Amino acid sequence: MQEIKVENITNDSIRHPAFLENGIVADILRLDKIHPVISGNKWFKLKNYLSDFQASGKKEIITFGGAWSNHIVATASACKQLNIPVTGIIRGEASPTLSKTLIDAKNLGMHLHFASRTDYKNKLISGQFNNESCYIIPEGGYGHLGMLGAATILELVNKNQYTHVCCAAGTGTMAAGLLHKLLPEQHLEVVSVLKNFSGLEASILFLNPVAKAVMNIHHNFHFGGYAKHKPELIAFMNKFYNQTKIPSDFVYSAKMIFAITDLAYKNYFPPQSRLLLIHCGGLQGNASLDKGSLIF
Ligand SMILES: *Cc1c(COP(=O)(O)O)cnc(C)c1O
Repeated sequence: MQEIKVENITNDSIRHPAFLENGIVADILRLDKIHPVISGNKWFKLKNYLSDFQASGKKEIITFGGAWSNHIVATASACKQLNIPVTGIIRGEASPTLSKTLIDAKNLGMHLHFASRTDYKNKLISGQFNNESCYIIPEGGYGHLGMLGAATILELVNKNQYTHVCCAAGTGTMAAGLLHKLLPEQHLEVVSVLKNFSGLEASILFLNPVAKAVMNIHHNFHFGGYAKHKPELIAFMNKFYNQTKIPSDFVYSAKMIFAITDLAYKNYFPPQSRLLLIHCGGLQGNASLDKGSLIF
């Protein structure tokens, strides 16, 4: 598999009617360019855990995720690059055919350990992983070190020129990191990709209790729930690609971009706002859509 290349990230202006017609400037930070499979923010969230592991003297990394987890494959790839032994505890019994994500993780050298949904939920994993030589990275990279790693995303741009920073949220770790770096007069617009995840705000503020910037969470753009989609979203992705040549993924970035253009059309952003959208990648997830759904 290809190496992760942070230097491939670009910050591009978006020429889209939602912004052009409303006197808004919008840029998009293309973290998706970091790697064809590894999602941009997963790498940033992992960085600090990996250096903490290296300083800890422990021998192996253990982490958690589902069969389609971007976090699992990102951890597998990072550990391969750094030559770290790693085990992924996977939610659910092993099925005879592995998901593409798990095949990739396995090919990268990750050891897969399947745990029943109940054991997984109760973190009842076998004692072999509960010893001093194992370093645990929480599911999705959610935690203080993940938040601090995600905060460094904003070091890639001149952040002070923006009035609003916009991102998608699953666990909210990235949102917490962005919030950490923003000034009191700046706004963070968070688009939740889960349905009715009312705990999101508390999860973000738990990682970042002294945040100063204004945070707004948008809960109405989930299109049916996590990893769900509707024809309207797929049509939007194709149209947005035609208009801007920017590809998006249906789980995270497309929902975020849809939400921000919709809000712009509804005059949510004052004229002369300067927006930064964070595109984290996840494009390989589009492979699970019906063939021919997307034009890119
Ligand atoms: C994981 C992921 C997110 C959400 O990140 P959280 O820190 O869990 O909120 C957004 N976009 C992509 C592409 C991801 O893989």
